Amino acid sequence: MNIVLLGPPGAGKGTQARRLQATMGIPHIATGDLFRSLAAEDNGLGREVRAYMNKGEYVPDDVTIRVGLDRLRAPDTENGCLLDGFPRTVAQATALTSALGRLGQRVDLALYITAPEELLVRRLSGRIVCHHCNAIYNNATRPPQQDMSCDACGHELERREDERAEVVRTRLRTHEERTSPVAEYYRERGTLVEIHGARTIEVVEQEVDGAVGLRGVR
Ligand code: AMP
Repeated sequence: MNIVLLGPPGAGKGTQARRLQATMGIPHIATGDLFRSLAAEDNGLGREVRAYMNKGEYVPDDVTIRVGLDRLRAPDTENGCLLDGFPRTVAQATALTSALGRLGQRVDLALYITAPEELLVRRLSGRIVCHHCNAIYNNATRPPQQDMSCDACGHELERREDERAEVVRTRLRTHEERTSPVAEYYRERGTLVEIHGARTIEVVEQEVDGAVGLRGVR
């Protein structure tokens, strides 16, 4: 029961992954979160990862595959996991297929959440996050109750360094060039379900649940 969430930044992958984690009881693994923890460290790897992230570029495949597959080896993934933002290149997808294959597993479902670029830019530029509990707010669509403090844990909210407008455009371009082929990779294997993420959250949730249920994943 391994589910991959694909889609451009701002499409809603994280929101759906966190919700599915609660309903399905399998862990949500986001390479973006793993990289943000590494980037906070003052060492060679931390500085390398931070430089790529701050420019909106992908971290190189060798590092990403090592970090992603290491996390998959933890015991909590025994019954599967929700992979959010990994794989993002065909090389990563191939490495994931091999690693799961060695365990007699596979990617059961790849959910590809899409949305028009202007909406993604609008969503990402209004986004503020809590680095303490990972809650996400949006100045335009989901403001916190108190200005810049997290409703859930009270910590101060911040804008992500890589969500300035010009970096957002680079992230979207990188996604188009390098991650669209990953959607094709899963389409060819009959695993891909495409979901239009520009609609209301309730409609998107229903479609995601339908796709998960249809695969008998629950
Ligand atoms: P995210 O939070 O998923 O938008 O990821 C934030 C940043 O982390 C991305 O813009 C990349 O720099 C890096 N990153 C996350 N996942 C990957 C991946 N699978 N491959 C390469 N870079 C990644």
